[in-house]
Amino acid sequence: MTHTDLYAVLGNPVAHSKSPRIHALFAAQCGHDLRYEARLVALDGFADALIPFRAEGGQGCNVTVPFKFEAARLAERRSPRAEQAEAANTLGWDDAGRLWADNTDGIGLVRDLARILMRPEKGLLATQRVLLLGAGGAASGVLGALIETGAQAITVWNRSPDKASRLVARHASLARTYGVALEAATVPPVGFDVVINATASSLGGTPLPLPSGVLRSGALAYDLMYQRVPTAFVAQAREALAQAHDGLGMLVEQAAESYWLWRGVRPDTRPVLAALQAELGVRDD
Ligand code: NDP
Repeated sequence: MTHTDLYAVLGNPVAHSKSPRIHALFAAQCGHDLRYEARLVALDGFADALIPFRAEGGQGCNVTVPFKFEAARLAERRSPRAEQAEAANTLGWDDAGRLWADNTDGIGLVRDLARILMRPEKGLLATQRVLLLGAGGAASGVLGALIETGAQAITVWNRSPDKASRLVARHASLARTYGVALEAATVPPVGFDVVINATASSLGGTPLPLPSGVLRSGALAYDLMYQRVPTAFVAQAREALAQAHDGLGMLVEQAAESYWLWRGVRPDTRPVLAALQAELGVRDD
C-alpha cells in the first residue's frame, strides 16, 4: 500500500495561504508523494490541533499568525534560529516522536533579498542601513538573519515601542558578534537603504504612518505581505519612488527551507516563484 505523507500550515486566518500550492509544486518537482493542507486552528486551540494532525500521520507543519510564539514554546527541541527568535514557523517530529521547532523566515527573507539584489547571501547587506518595521512573530523571525548579513546598522520600529525594545535587547549580543549597530526607535527614522515592513499593516490595506523621507528614491522597500495587487506598503513605497517588492519570494524561500528540513531535499525555488507569479498575474519590479 502506498503511503502519502501529510503536511500542513496551521494558522488563523489561513484560507488565503499559498503554502499548499507551493508545497504541491515542490513535491511535483521532486517526484514526492505528499499532501499539504491549510488548517484553520481556533485561537486557543493550537496545542490541541497538533494531536489529531499527528495521529493522521502528520510529518511536519508550518505555523503562521498568530501561533509562532506558542509553537516555539511547545517544542521539546528548538534550533538556534527558533531559540533566538522565540518563534517558530516550522515544526516536525524526530524519530523518538519529540516535537522540534525551527524558524525559516529569516533565511527565506535573506535569500529573496539576495535574488532581488543579485548578490551573494554572505555579507549581503554589509554597508547597508536597514529599518525593520514591526516586532511581532515575523520581525522576530527575521531579525537574527538580518544581523547575520553584516548590515552596518539595523533600527527596529514598532507601533507598541516596548515590543521593539524587547526584540532589540534579545538580539543585542548577536548584533555585537556581527558588529551591527542595533537599536530601537520610537519614531520611524529616515536615511535607510533598506526598509522592511514586517508589520501586519498591509493586511488591513492601510499605509503605515511613516514620516516623509523614510521611503525614498534609491531605497529598497520590502513588504513581508504578498497579494495579487500591490500591498498598501508596496504602493506607498512606489509613490515615494523606492524600489518595492512584496513577500511572495520570501514565502517560497522559507517554504523551500522547511521542505529541506522535513525531507532532506532542497527544491529549486525559481520555477516555483515564476509559476506563482504567473498564476497570480503579478510580476517583479
Ligand atoms: P503578528 O501578529 O505576530 O505581529 C503583527 C505586527 O504588526 C506587530 O508588530 C504589530 O504591532 C504590527 N501591526 C499590526 N497592525 C498594524 C498597523 N495597522 N499599523 C502598524 N503596525 C501594525 O504577525 P506576524 O509578525 O506573524 O506577521 C506580520 C506580517 O508578515 C503578516 O502580514 C504576515 O502575512 C507577513 N509574513 C509573511 C511571510 C512571508 O513568507 N512572506 C512570513 C511571515 C509573515 P503591535 O505590536 O503594536 O501590535
